[in-house]
Amino acid sequence: MRKKIVVGNWKMNKTYNEGIEFVDEIIKESLSHSTDDVLKIIATPYIHLAAIANKLEHLNGFEVAAQNCHHNPKGAYTGEISAAMIESTGAKYVIIGHSERRLYSGENNNLLAQKVNIALANNLTPIFCIGENLIERNANMHLEAIKIQLKEALFHLPSKDFIKLILAYEPVWAIGTGVTATIHQAQGMHNYIRSEINKKYGKEISTAISILYGGSCNTKNAKELFDCIDVDGGLIGGSSLIGSEYLAIVNSIKK
Ligand code: PEP
Repeated sequence: MRKKIVVGNWKMNKTYNEGIEFVDEIIKESLSHSTDDVLKIIATPYIHLAAIANKLEHLNGFEVAAQNCHHNPKGAYTGEISAAMIESTGAKYVIIGHSERRLYSGENNNLLAQKVNIALANNLTPIFCIGENLIERNANMHLEAIKIQLKEALFHLPSKDFIKLILAYEPVWAIGTGVTATIHQAQGMHNYIRSEINKKYGKEISTAISILYGGSCNTKNAKELFDCIDVDGGLIGGSSLIGSEYLAIVNSIKK
């Protein structure tokens, strides 16, 4: 059975103390709910990684992730963070390819392929984001857009590495907009992604890989999205910033 996963992406939110308070709250809350069958990953700013990795170390089903890493191993890249540095904090996951990094930092598929390689080489699991923009969706080019992202950023990987990935389908027009994909759109795209993976890597891998939905997912719409057969959980931005909301989304996954 595929792993159910809910990633909370804080983006550039929460001071150090606010982040620690959030984690203390969800640790307390989650002790009274049984959510062990859902992997819960909190993607924090770099400043929180080590402290939160330490707090979550002995707590079943919780992990911490970085939101980005540099594509080079080390060197004169002022202000950047390497995959090895992230791994040294105790974090085991890293988001790569988020549309905000593609948009504001000009990250393209070629660069993202290098980030995936270096993350894997440092024992980090990439949570890799793919998604079409509104122009592509309106022009009925959304399937083609996703196909290109998969091919250019991920399909160079051998099977033994590809299977380690977590994928997140995040239509760019749904991120932070309050407009969510319909269950028909989400299920349709997740099924398409799985079929492209099947063509490249075969059935065993395409049925084993977790594909999350992201884009204005919240406590009201999470359940119907997560109930779709090919949706294995969510990547949650805005609605992951309040502990009780994040856990309510986790709890809406069908057991
Ligand atoms: C995200 O940051 O990946 C995201 C999906 O954001 P939001 O839930 O706010 O749309």
